[in-house]
Amino acid sequence: MALNLMLMGLPGAGKGTQAEKIVDQYHIPHISTGDIFRAAMKNNTPMGIEAKSYIDKGELVPDEVTNGIVKERLAKDDVNDGYMLDGFPRNMAQAEALETFGAELGKPLNCVINIHVDPESLMERLTGRYICRNCGATYHKIFNPTKVEGTCDRCGEHEFYQREDDKPETVKNRLDVNIKMNTPLLDFYKKQGILHEVDGNQDIDKVFADIKAVLDQIN
Ligand SMILES: [Zn+2]
Repeated sequence: MALNLMLMGLPGAGKGTQAEKIVDQYHIPHISTGDIFRAAMKNNTPMGIEAKSYIDKGELVPDEVTNGIVKERLAKDDVNDGYMLDGFPRNMAQAEALETFGAELGKPLNCVINIHVDPESLMERLTGRYICRNCGATYHKIFNPTKVEGTCDRCGEHEFYQREDDKPETVKNRLDVNIKMNTPLLDFYKKQGILHEVDGNQDIDKVFADIKAVLDQIN
């Protein structure tokens, strides 16, 4: 059976890393919303032209247009043997549209993988980065701390700062928004019996081994 996959995971859960590994292993096209938007606009597809008209005005692209762009992409022959969606669907309207056009195209979604990491661990991962104010060297409290606490390995200075994006309030807010967005989708795919939860709080290779165990059952 073709592997028609959707990959989910909160920011910091390691979705990007696992996406690369899946593509390497299964040779299915990686359909990331950002990439196909850029391609559709560059190639002036009907939906690309429409999307551009909203983006040029600084407006959000409506679901109908996003759905249309994904549908155009899934209509291509290179995804006849499978695909991996990344960043779509993001809400129930998009999920329902995908049900319809996936079936129309004979390429219905048959597997959703959610890389699960609890929000507390994600907070640690995502707020851990700090930067030397003197030389700009980047560190991480857990993954890449300075050799001597409070002293930059590169220049020996002691002043560090955090980028706005890495600050706890910003990260908390980003996680909350994503949890709110993902929850109904996870419920929806769970009810369909195609949701597979993978524990993302393990080594990268162990996470991939768990994903592979799921995908090999389908493939
Ligand atoms: Zn430094």
